Amino acid sequence: MKIAFFNTKPYDQRFFEKANARHVHELLFLQPHLDENTAVLAKGFDAVCIFVNDRLDAALISKLANMGVRLIALRCAGYNNVDLKAASKNSLTVVRVPAYSPYAVAEHTMALLLALNRKVHRAFNRVRESNFSLEGLLGFDIHGLTVGVVGTGKIGTIVARILNGFGCHILAYDPYPNSECEKLGADYTSLENLFSKSQIVTLHCPLTPDTHHLINQSAIAKMKEGVTLINTSRGALVDTKAVIAGLKTGKIGYLGLDVYEEEGDMFFEDLSGIVIQDDVFARLTTFPNVIVTGHQAFFTQEALTNIAETTLANIKEFELTGTCANRITTS
Ligand code: NAD
Repeated sequence: MKIAFFNTKPYDQRFFEKANARHVHELLFLQPHLDENTAVLAKGFDAVCIFVNDRLDAALISKLANMGVRLIALRCAGYNNVDLKAASKNSLTVVRVPAYSPYAVAEHTMALLLALNRKVHRAFNRVRESNFSLEGLLGFDIHGLTVGVVGTGKIGTIVARILNGFGCHILAYDPYPNSECEKLGADYTSLENLFSKSQIVTLHCPLTPDTHHLINQSAIAKMKEGVTLINTSRGALVDTKAVIAGLKTGKIGYLGLDVYEEEGDMFFEDLSGIVIQDDVFARLTTFPNVIVTGHQAFFTQEALTNIAETTLANIKEFELTGTCANRITTS
């Protein structure tokens, strides 16, 4: 099939060209995001391939359909950025990569947690300045703590398994409890109870209208004093202003974010020579007890290999059968 890849970086091209040796699709790699202005570049292509920060609303989807595009291939797991109802209305199939390396995201969650609780980010800078003082670097043991895992799908379950190895007590919240987590000794409970009992809260649920700002002022008020909060899922699960208020009072003791609700125009780009206009984000980066990474939890060799292979296999399956096991439906 002829596929226009939007919003690509050199690493996307490397991994997709390698995977395409088996599929022999016709690939065009484009740097711009897919939006109202760039959609015209998809003319003559059967499929567009997009990433987490390409927002496909009803108008854009209708434009793509009118140009003859039949397939939207997401090279990611989350799909909150695509209007699925509009895709269905325009007979466009949407496919995704449901699991490419849940280990990558689970391990990055642990990287944020372990960097925060032992203040590795501060220690790294100090030692480079020949400052070997330990003042201000006092950490805490993770062993024995209660950790609340919100969302126990593929990633949340691996996080629970790792935390089990650390000797943590796991409280879990998920509308669909998972027997593997139960076997690990996780106790499923209400969200309120999870918030009030956990010293660490980590988010692994999708972004939906129900989970938007799941962590807001009232949720934070229910949490333990000095709670550690980690979000490697989707930015808008967290009301950033409420979290900043919580950091200022000390209610939130540590914050690790790989995602940010307004990341769309910033993340994945080198903006080091530009003044950041987002004051909320800028405030976040001033706290000594906050680590923000730029949506890199997925970014491992294994994950990029799987993303490329699964995406191209999805497209081949659609080409041959008109449908795909990894198709996303509105139901
Ligand atoms: P998954 O579908 O396997 O698991 C999601 C779980 O969340 C499911 O068990 C589901 O029942 C549960 N859930 C749904 N609504 C919920 C709610 N209201 N409260 C609590 N739980 C709820 O997905 P996954 O592969 O484990 O991925 C989890 C999330 O991680 C994705 O939605 C995606 O947004 C994010 N993600 C981030 C990165 C990254 O690079 N930072 C990479 C991949 C995925």
